[in-house]
Amino acid sequence: MDSVKAPPGWKPEAPVVRHMPVTLLRLPRTAITRARFPAIDFHVHTRAMKTQDAYEKAVKLMDAIGMGAFVNLNGGTGAELDAVLKAGEPYKDRIANFITFSSAGINEPGWSAKFAAEMERAFKAGAFGMKVSKALGLSAKNPDGTFIQADDPRLDPVWAMAAKYDRPIMIHLGDSIGRFYPISPKNERYEAGLWHRPGDTSGNYYNNGSPSFEEIDRARENMHRKHPKTRFVNAHLAMLYYDAEKLAAFLDTYPNADVEISATVQDLGRAPRLWREFIIKYQDRVLMGSDGSPDRGIDDFWTPHWRYLETYDEYFEHPAQIRTEGGSPGHGRWNISGIGLPDAVLRKVYYQNALRHLPSLRASIEKQLAGR
Ligand SMILES: [Zn+2]
Repeated sequence: MDSVKAPPGWKPEAPVVRHMPVTLLRLPRTAITRARFPAIDFHVHTRAMKTQDAYEKAVKLMDAIGMGAFVNLNGGTGAELDAVLKAGEPYKDRIANFITFSSAGINEPGWSAKFAAEMERAFKAGAFGMKVSKALGLSAKNPDGTFIQADDPRLDPVWAMAAKYDRPIMIHLGDSIGRFYPISPKNERYEAGLWHRPGDTSGNYYNNGSPSFEEIDRARENMHRKHPKTRFVNAHLAMLYYDAEKLAAFLDTYPNADVEISATVQDLGRAPRLWREFIIKYQDRVLMGSDGSPDRGIDDFWTPHWRYLETYDEYFEHPAQIRTEGGSPGHGRWNISGIGLPDAVLRKVYYQNALRHLPSLRASIEKQLAGR
C-alpha cells in the first residue's frame, strides 16, 4: 500500500496463537435476549431464501430475538433472484430481498445499460434495493489489470437507476484498515485474518499490488459526489470505524450517505464514550446491521448487538463471527462495553432510519411495536 505507513517496528514475526483469558471479574449483566424495539437488521447474508421453509425459519429466528425485519443482501440476479423474490412474496413484511450487484461482463461493450436494465427489472419485480460487495474496488479488474473502483464512469448508469426508483444502494467498499497493514501479531486484524496459518495471507492487502485504502475511499467519495440523488448505505460504517473524525467528515460532506454498524461493534465497544457521543450526534444517519446469517439457526450472535446498543454493561464478549483455534474472537482479542443509547436514539438506529430506505416495511414495524 502506498500512503498508509505501518508503525515503526512492524515486521512480520513468528506467529503465536494464545488463548483468550476468561475474566474473573464479576460484573452486573442486564438480562437481555430480545431487542427492545423491532430492529431492522440491514446487513444479513443468506443464500437459502428460495423455499417457504427458509422464510419460516428466518421469521422464527426474528421473533425469538425481537428483530422486526432484515435485509437479505444475497438475492442475486436473473433467475436466482426471481426464485428468491417469488418465495419471499408472502414474507415481504419481514424480509427485504436485495438484488446483488455483479461486475461480470463489465469490460464488454454495452454492460452498463444491460446491468441497469436488470436492476430496473429487479426493482419492478420487488427487490427492495441493491447490495454491492467489496469485490468492487478490491478484485474486479480492467483488461489492463488495474482495479475497477466505485467512481468508474461505467457505473454511473447503475447508481442512477437506483435513484430513478428511489431504492437504496447498500455498499461495502474497502476493508478493515488492519488488512492494509503488514501481517503480524501486532496487527489488530491478525486473528480475523487467521494469518497465523502457515502461508495464509488471504484478505491482506499490504504490499501485494492491491489498491490502497485511500484509493478505494477516494472512489467512494467521488461516487457520492457524482450521484447526490442516489441514497447509499455504507456497510461497516464506511470502514471508518477506526477514526470517528474521518467518519464525521464523510457524513458531513455527503448528505446522501448513511452508514450501518455491522462488524464494527468489536471496535466501537472499546471506546464506548466516544462512540456513544458520535451515534447520538449522527443519530439520523446510523443504521443497525450485523453481517449475520439466519442459516446458522438461533444462536447468541445478535444478543451482544442489543447489549452493546441498549445497556451500559461492561466488558462482555463482542459478536465475533470467527473464533480462532485458541478460542479467541477473530474480530479482536478483547471485550467490549455498552453505550446505553436513549430510547429515542435507539428507535432511530433500530428501525426509523432503515424505514426511510424501506418505507414499505413501516406497517409491519408499527404493527409489531403495537403488539409489544
Ligand atoms: Zn456482509
